[in-house]
Amino acid sequence: MSQLVVRVPEIGDFNDVEVVELLVAVGDRVEAEQSLIVIESDKASMEVPSPAAGTVVSLAVRVNGKVNQGDAVLTLEVEGAAAGPQPENPAPAALVEPRPSSQRVAASGAAPRGEVGGRAKLLVLGGGPGGYTAAFRAADLGLSVTLVERDPTLGGVCTNVGCIPSKALLHVADVIEQARALREHGVDFGEPRLDLERMRAYKDGIVGKLTGGLAALAKARKVRVVRGAGRFTSANELRVDGPSGTQAIAFEHAIVATGSRPVMLPGLPSDPRILDSTSALELSGSPRSLLVIGGGIIGLEMACVYLALGVQVTIVELMDRLLVGVDRDLVRVLEKRLKARCEAIHLGVGVARVEGRADGLRVTYDGPRAPSARSFERVLVAVGRRANIEDIGLDALGVALASRGFIPVDAQLRTNIPHVFAIGDVTGPPQLAHRATHQGKVAAEVIAGQKAAFEPAAIPAIAYTDPEVAWVGLTEEQATSQGISVKKGVFPWSASGRALAMGRGEGTTKLLFSEEDGRLLGAGMAGAHAGELIGEAALAIEMGADAHDLGMTVHAHPTLSETVAFAAEVAAGTITDLMPSKR
Ligand code: FAD
Repeated sequence: MSQLVVRVPEIGDFNDVEVVELLVAVGDRVEAEQSLIVIESDKASMEVPSPAAGTVVSLAVRVNGKVNQGDAVLTLEVEGAAAGPQPENPAPAALVEPRPSSQRVAASGAAPRGEVGGRAKLLVLGGGPGGYTAAFRAADLGLSVTLVERDPTLGGVCTNVGCIPSKALLHVADVIEQARALREHGVDFGEPRLDLERMRAYKDGIVGKLTGGLAALAKARKVRVVRGAGRFTSANELRVDGPSGTQAIAFEHAIVATGSRPVMLPGLPSDPRILDSTSALELSGSPRSLLVIGGGIIGLEMACVYLALGVQVTIVELMDRLLVGVDRDLVRVLEKRLKARCEAIHLGVGVARVEGRADGLRVTYDGPRAPSARSFERVLVAVGRRANIEDIGLDALGVALASRGFIPVDAQLRTNIPHVFAIGDVTGPPQLAHRATHQGKVAAEVIAGQKAAFEPAAIPAIAYTDPEVAWVGLTEEQATSQGISVKKGVFPWSASGRALAMGRGEGTTKLLFSEEDGRLLGAGMAGAHAGELIGEAALAIEMGADAHDLGMTVHAHPTLSETVAFAAEVAAGTITDLMPSKR
């Protein structure tokens, strides 16, 4: 037995670096390479590894104390020759001992001199819902985590320019529409006077609260957040170009969570009046007319916002239906209301050309059903999103792509490279925030050594339109095309006391149960606040519930959630809230 004093290794040009965490205590047995303490400057944090296996006999540092290169960290009692002669100048952490596994941090991971670097057990590239969730979960499981984000705030598309700002504006739109609808019931507030600046401030305030909250959550977990655009330079190193310079970060595991961006139609002129979802959410001016290209969720949600603001909206969709992939009976509920409010909805029609003119954007359509060309003040392109896979060094990392331009992963969210994971929009459809967050948790747990897999029975989706359309699991059209026999229960909201009290009896709730074992396979709802109902169906699918489970669960009256129980009763043949079926 002999004693070995472990010292702070080379840490670049930093002095008086703070000790932020002690990872071991006196009496602990540690393995070679095990992290002993975490030190942090204002730019970087780093773990000091043990050069040998042994037992901690004394600590020379305390939390919040300051250390410099060469200072004693602790004394280890080590067996046999492991102690050896102690080096005058300890080597950088990554160079203390050669690391055998390709999954370990490469020696080249030490930051080049003059650059702020660091190393992390886990590096997460992209601070959207997938990335920050993975980072937070991994930190909670005890890993040292570095999260790299090129934007000034965490939250990604969802928090900054997606789910949250769109729902803030959709809330405003909903209140405007509800106030308008009250005219029929004896209350007239008059025409709304719109103050777009305050509306923007309301939306931005919500986004600011959430992104500020994320920064606090990261700090509380000691997740090191590095601002800058990251690019992998090898299987174990990322270079970050940010406002404070360039740095190299070595890592053992990486999660790619770089998300997606809007697709622009080819051949469109560069014209600020042509919007994507991000610029449409900025509400810069209230145009008289807007053409929405694309009848998917994002296009239709933005159409509802602009309709409520009094804009004349036209929708054009290349396919012969809105919300492709959703059952027609559900879409019809939305389409009927949109048709009454929009100038026109062109289905099965393409856009051939958009010409920027002084008096507007002249749009020429394509296809046998093409209407004649006309001008709009603004055009919103909402035709899909593309994974952010370019310029992040996937080739240096060795990660393979699927032919459709996203990163394929297995149930553990692993790419073809065992220590590299990918989550969220960059892994392809469905590109939804809640999928990204769940994937993020699983990836973090797998990296922390837990048994975890992302194998949901179903992932719900919601169009927060007016009315909302929500669906989860198998659709009726999929059941038909795949030859799956289902028992269907449909409850019309015209028989729901709550829906009628809200003046929204046009909705419908549909449940599909397996003919084989009775379990719920799929569900869809269209109607006001339908999105709030889909969670019950998702849980029922995950729990293997059947029509009796759902129908016999006591739902509060009068609620829209009753429509789920009533649809189950229709399937079970026990419904009393509708006319009796013919015997
Ligand atoms: P993202 O949120 O795209 O985040 C990726 C992050 O990586 C970004 O912050 C980006 O800056 C960063 N990044 C990329 N490359 C680099 C790099 N090289 N270096 C550093 N950082 C990098 N989904 C829902 O579930 N519900 C909704 O209601 C909903 N509404 C939406 C409304 C709109 C208008 C839009 C556009 C999207 C909406 N979505 C919604 C989709 C949702 O926003 C995405 O599915 C979700 O944000 C994906 O999360 P992510 O973590 O995979 O990626």
